[in-house]
Amino acid sequence: MTHWLSGRVARKTCWNDTHFSLAIAVQGPPFLAGQFIRIGMDVGNERVGRPYSLVNPPHEPLLEIFFNIVPEGPLTSRLAQLEAGDQVWLNDAANGFLTLAEVPEQTRDLWMLATGTGVGPFLSMLQTEEPWRRFDNVVLGYGVRFHDNLGYRELIERLQREHHGRFHFVPFVTGEKVPTAFDCRITDTLADGRLEQHVGVALDPERCHVMLCGHAEMISDALQILEQRGLRRHRRREPGHISTEKYH
Ligand SMILES: Cc1cc2nc3c(=O)[nH]c(=O)nc-3n(C[C@H](O)[C@H](O)[C@H](O)COP(=O)(O)OP(=O)(O)OC[C@H]3O[C@@H](n4cnc5c(N)ncnc54)[C@H](O)[C@@H]3O)c2cc1C
Repeated sequence: MTHWLSGRVARKTCWNDTHFSLAIAVQGPPFLAGQFIRIGMDVGNERVGRPYSLVNPPHEPLLEIFFNIVPEGPLTSRLAQLEAGDQVWLNDAANGFLTLAEVPEQTRDLWMLATGTGVGPFLSMLQTEEPWRRFDNVVLGYGVRFHDNLGYRELIERLQREHHGRFHFVPFVTGEKVPTAFDCRITDTLADGRLEQHVGVALDPERCHVMLCGHAEMISDALQILEQRGLRRHRRREPGHISTEKYH
């Protein structure tokens, strides 16, 4: 049975008029970077809960989520109206296997490929020490429709400064021309090798692990391309190279 905890919005970030982050003060459950928690609000007589990845690293006290408004959905437009001090419900357990604990020990290059708010779990992991202790190269591919949908740019720039030469950030903006970003889908550059060329790291099954998060189509297209390259889905009982988390 779901057990709900009461939390309060401590900080709200409006990235633009559709993308928001909420940092929530709550005596929350322990979690691993990359996991998600259910967030709920009462709508009429019903509590509507949806899973959201935590963006903060586990050592930080406020639980942070990053989301966009889905006009036809019941929760996101209400979440976007919350302000600091407002109450919100959180499930008392975090879940999910898109974590560094699932990445096989021999991995040297970690590829994190996200669409939209799917960047959240990767930002949580990147703010821990583990990726920088374990991997030679960390690639973050982050695809959005419009440039101002790219959240957390300051955090990403800080990570680039701190891990210069090992952290390869690659933005993709499909809906407008931006000189610093690829103007196509992540999967286009996976298929034709441009992403590997751009970062100077090969997708070598002997060395790499790929994490995919976000839109279902990106995940299924990427899986197809990567499987043709000899990478396999990772399962606990059958270690492989690809971990996924589908948002919608
Ligand atoms: C494991 C997991 C983790 C998730 N983490 C996040 C997260 O960190 N941030 C986040 O923004 N969302 C996340 N989601 C999606 C989230 O749970 C909600 O579905 C979403 O925020 C919409 O909520 P809603 O109640 O407004 O609409 P819903 O009733 O949930 O969805 C309405 C419709 O919109 C589609 N949809 C859901 N999300 C989107 C989207 N982002 N863009 C366009 N269409 C969408 C749904 O498939 C459905 O058809 C996650 C989903 C899963 C399964």
